[in-house]
Amino acid sequence: LSGFDVAVIGGGIAGLAHAYAAAKLGRKVVLLERHERARGASVRNFGMIWPIGQPPATLPVALRSAEIWREVLDQTGVPSFRTGSIHAVYWEDEAQVAQEFAAAGPGAGYRVQWLLPEQAMAKSPALRAQGLRGALWSETELTVDPRQVIAELSGFLAERCGVELRYGSAVRAISNGSIETTSGTLRAERIIVCGGDDFETLYPDIFASSGITRVKLQMMRTAQQPAGWLLGPSLAAGLTLRFYKSFEICPSLPELKQRIAAQMPEYDEWGIHVLVSQNGAGQLTLGDSHEYGLEPDPFDKPFIDQLILRYLDTFLQAPDLNIVERWHGVYSKHPDKPWFHARPEPNVDVLTALGGAGMTLSFGLAEQNVREWNV
Ligand SMILES: Cc1cc2nc3c(=O)[nH]c(=O)nc-3n(C[C@H](O)[C@H](O)[C@H](O)COP(=O)(O)OP(=O)(O)OC[C@H]3O[C@@H](n4cnc5c(N)ncnc54)[C@H](O)[C@@H]3O)c2cc1C
Repeated sequence: LSGFDVAVIGGGIAGLAHAYAAAKLGRKVVLLERHERARGASVRNFGMIWPIGQPPATLPVALRSAEIWREVLDQTGVPSFRTGSIHAVYWEDEAQVAQEFAAAGPGAGYRVQWLLPEQAMAKSPALRAQGLRGALWSETELTVDPRQVIAELSGFLAERCGVELRYGSAVRAISNGSIETTSGTLRAERIIVCGGDDFETLYPDIFASSGITRVKLQMMRTAQQPAGWLLGPSLAAGLTLRFYKSFEICPSLPELKQRIAAQMPEYDEWGIHVLVSQNGAGQLTLGDSHEYGLEPDPFDKPFIDQLILRYLDTFLQAPDLNIVERWHGVYSKHPDKPWFHARPEPNVDVLTALGGAGMTLSFGLAEQNVREWNV
């Protein structure tokens, strides 16, 4: 039997981050992924490393993660936009919340600043000027193309970090350090299962009693923008202020939520807020919606895309908004916790349900976890 110090199950960002952290400490690592390449949430997202969305309790993990991302991106040469983020506001109640966050945020560790309309336009010519009341600027966000980065990260782990990759290898059972896969059995001192939203294959009883659910998000991608047009900072607007827990430190948030619930109930019903990122090919990634439940609808809803595009039009002016791709992604989420951790055996960890923040949190969390292991 081949023996390893650490076996990581799952080739999404959570698995890759744990493999990187363990290899960095000099461990002999194997990564097992059932598909020939990752195709879960980690290749379907915006690629936003988004500390500003994290509540104060997990902000340090997100900020540390962003540092590790920069370290890894510098070593791999994968393109990234280290451009920060803007939440643009067009309503008085949104301006109030954004200003409250700009005032209270720095004390809680957020690197944010309130921008007047002309300052916001100077940072992001992609914003609609008409009706703009200002913006919340944050310097800590960066963006990668998830499809490109996930593929290149696994190559980097194999070639530069000595991680053994076994794609096309589904893990069927784990017991006493022995890992039974569809392509043979191996052993590891320490095993971490980062299986995303697979709750049925390994430890189904643990998942069944965990409270974890699935969340389905609809996404779109535009054509390449002409003439090297650049988005600049990744963009969000007023709807996003009601979505991330970070903004719960703002006393005026309940009023903003009430106004949106009354004025735009379909955006609450389908959990829609609108984010925009750009990839190295110049395309814009747009989304998203949130449908909760263990059995996500396999079929997409065109009216959700229309709602996203209608809201996008209120704050973004980009030269080419022709949609060339539509897809959905599914992530796992715990109702209260920022991630789900279980230890079914003394040397086995299960880590998933990073919700909408797996790209943001994984590297920081993996570094913490691996340091605790006694291998
Ligand atoms: C549309 C969308 C947009 C998002 N946007 C962002 C964003 O901009 N920023 C951000 O921080 N987060 C974002 N997220 C969240 C983020 O994508 C997820 O939190 C993250 O990708 C989860 O990573 P993971 O490794 O846990 O799961 P996954 O990416 O699902 O990977 C799990 C892997 O485990 C493998 N696997 C499972 N079981 C086994 C087994 N038994 N044997 C072998 N392999 C197995 C699966 O095949 C899969 O490849 C978004 C998510 C979605 C869906």
